[in-house]
Amino acid sequence: MGKMMSVSVAIVGAGPVGLAAGLELARFGVPFQIFEEDPRLSTKPKAGTILPRSLEIFAQEGVLAGILREGLRFDEVHFVDRPRDQVLMRMLMSPMEEETRYPFIVNLPQSDLEGFMYEGLVSRDDPVRFEHQLARLSQDEDGCRLWFETPDSALEVHARFVLACDGGKSVIRHQLGIEMEGVTHPERFLVADFEVDLDRRNGRPLTYLSYIFDPEEWVIFVRQPRFWRFLIPVGPGALEPTEAMVMEKVRRVVKNESLPISFLDMGVYQVHHRTAKSWQAGRVFLLGDAAHLITPVGGLGMNTGIQDANNLAWKIAFVLQYRADRGLLTSYESERAPIARLNARNQAERNRDVMRMKSPMKRVGRNLVLGWIDRAPGLKWQAAHARSLLGTTYKPKTKSPSLFKQIFGVRHFVRPPVEVGDRMPDGEVFGPDGSHRYLHDLIQTGFVAIILMDPRLRPAVDPDIPGLTQYVMHRFDAAFDTGLRERALFDRGGRITALFGADQNQFILVRPDAHVAAIGAFDDGSSAIRAYQAYIHQPSTTPSRAGRAVL
Ligand SMILES: Cc1cc2nc3c(=O)[nH]c(=O)nc-3n(C[C@H](O)[C@H](O)[C@H](O)COP(=O)(O)OP(=O)(O)OC[C@H]3O[C@@H](n4cnc5c(N)ncnc54)[C@H](O)[C@@H]3O)c2cc1C
Repeated sequence: MGKMMSVSVAIVGAGPVGLAAGLELARFGVPFQIFEEDPRLSTKPKAGTILPRSLEIFAQEGVLAGILREGLRFDEVHFVDRPRDQVLMRMLMSPMEEETRYPFIVNLPQSDLEGFMYEGLVSRDDPVRFEHQLARLSQDEDGCRLWFETPDSALEVHARFVLACDGGKSVIRHQLGIEMEGVTHPERFLVADFEVDLDRRNGRPLTYLSYIFDPEEWVIFVRQPRFWRFLIPVGPGALEPTEAMVMEKVRRVVKNESLPISFLDMGVYQVHHRTAKSWQAGRVFLLGDAAHLITPVGGLGMNTGIQDANNLAWKIAFVLQYRADRGLLTSYESERAPIARLNARNQAERNRDVMRMKSPMKRVGRNLVLGWIDRAPGLKWQAAHARSLLGTTYKPKTKSPSLFKQIFGVRHFVRPPVEVGDRMPDGEVFGPDGSHRYLHDLIQTGFVAIILMDPRLRPAVDPDIPGLTQYVMHRFDAAFDTGLRERALFDRGGRITALFGADQNQFILVRPDAHVAAIGAFDDGSSAIRAYQAYIHQPSTTPSRAGRAVL
C-alpha cells in the first residue's frame, strides 16, 4: 500500500528552475514540495553565466550573497573576429548602472549555483524529496494527483497546482500531450572544462566571456571562478570528441602549441531551438527547459527559466491566498511564451548565426554593424539592456525603429520612458526613515504603487489595503505635518523620476515581480487602489468574495 501526502504546490524537478520556483513560493509563504528523481542535485557542466536580471531575482529570493562570493563578476563581453584576431565589439554592462544594483554578469558553474539555491531552502523541512520519480499525473476541477516511484514505496500526492520543472525531456509535458515547436540542430555542442592559464599565455588576457567568430570553427570561452570552460560545435558526422582532441583545439585557438592544460570534465549536448505549444494545462504549468529549449550560445536557457518562476509564483500565491481569481494565471503563458521565443530567436539563434557566418560579404556587413554598436551610446545601452534581460518586457508588441534609425538616430541617447509591462528600474532613493532604499526593496509580497506627487501639495492618499503598499516619491521630501512622511521617498534631484520618464501627478503600479502593471493619473486618493483591484480581477477587498468560489 503506497503512502499519500497533500501539498498546495507540487514542483517536479530540482534543477535550477524547480529550485527557483521553491524559493519564490517560500517568499510568498506558499506551502510546496519539490520532487526530484535523482538522489542528489546535478553535477553536470551546463549553465555557467548568470545575467543581471537573474541576480536581482536571486537577491529577492535571499540567495545572492553566496553567488557573489563564489562567482566571478565581470562587466565586459567580447565579440572577436578570429581570422583577423580583432575585437569587433565590447559589450559593456556599465550602461545599466542607473538601472540596477548589479550591472555585471556572474560566471558560476550551474552545480554551484544549485547548491546555493538549495541552501536557501534548507531552513524548511525536507524541501526536496530526492529519488522520487514522477510516473503519472491526473487532474480535475478540484486539483491534481501525482504518483511517484521511490526506492521504498509508491507515493501519491494531492496538489492544488503542479509546476513542471522536469527539464527538456519533461515527462509531464509528454503526458499532457503538449508538443514542442521548433528545430533540433544537426550539430551538437561540446562543453569542456580545464585548468589553463589563458590570462598570461594567450598574447593578451581574455575577458571572462568571449565569443570567437570563425566560419570554420567558432568558439566560446567562459572563465569560471576556478577553471576555464570552452564551448565548440561538433558537426554532424564528426568523430566523438576525446580529451586529446579538445586540448589540441584549445591550443590551436590560442595559437600556443605547448600550452600546459589540465583536463577536468566534458559533456556533449544536443542543441535545440524549441518552445512548447502551450505552457498551461488546467492546474499544471510548464517552466524552464520543460517549456523552452534554447541554444546555449548566449547563456539564456536557465536565465529565462528563472524569470518563468519569478513571473508565475506570485500569481499562484495571490490565487491561493484569495487575493486574485484564477484568471490571473493565464497571463503566465501569454507573458512568458513570447519572451522565450524572443530570447531563443533574437539572442541565442542570432548569436549562433553571426558567429559562424560563412559569406565574406555578410561578414563585412556584420563587422560594420558591430563596430557601429560599439561606438553609439544608444545602441550600447540597448544591447546591454536586452542582453542583461533587464529589458524583458510584457508590454504589447510595439514596432521597433528601423535599423537606420537605430544606428544613426540614437547618438544623443535618452533612455526611453518606463511603460506598462517593463521591469521597473531599481533606482536608489531615501526612505521614510532617511536610509538609502532601492526601489526593488520596497517590493515584498505584494504590489507597490509609487505616486509621483509633490508632498507640499498634500495629495490625499487612501490607506493601504492588503496586497498593496503606496509611496509618494518626489524631489521635495515630505514634512511631518503633511501626513505623508511614513510613505515618502525622497528622490534627490528628481533623478529616478526622470529615469521613469513619467509625468507628475501619476502613479506607477508595480507587481511583486517588479514589472509595471499600470501607469495612470492620480485623480483622487484611491486611484492606485482601483488600478490594483482591476489588475488582479478583484471585485472587492473582502477575501471571501475575491477568489474562494473559483478555487
Ligand atoms: C552546455 C550548456 C551550457 C549552458 N549554458 C547556459 C548558460 O550559461 N546560461 C543559461 O542561462 N543557460 C545555460 N544552459 C541551459 C541550462 O543549463 C538549462 O536551461 C537549465 O538547466 C534548465 O533548468 P531546468 O531546471 O528547467 O531543467 P534541468 O536542469 O534539466 O532540471 C530538471 C530536473 O528535473 C528532474 N526530473 C526529470 N524528470 C523527472 C521526473 N519524472 N520525476 C522527478 N524529477 C524529474 C531531473 O533529474 C532534473 O534534476 C546551458 C545548457 C547547456 C547544455
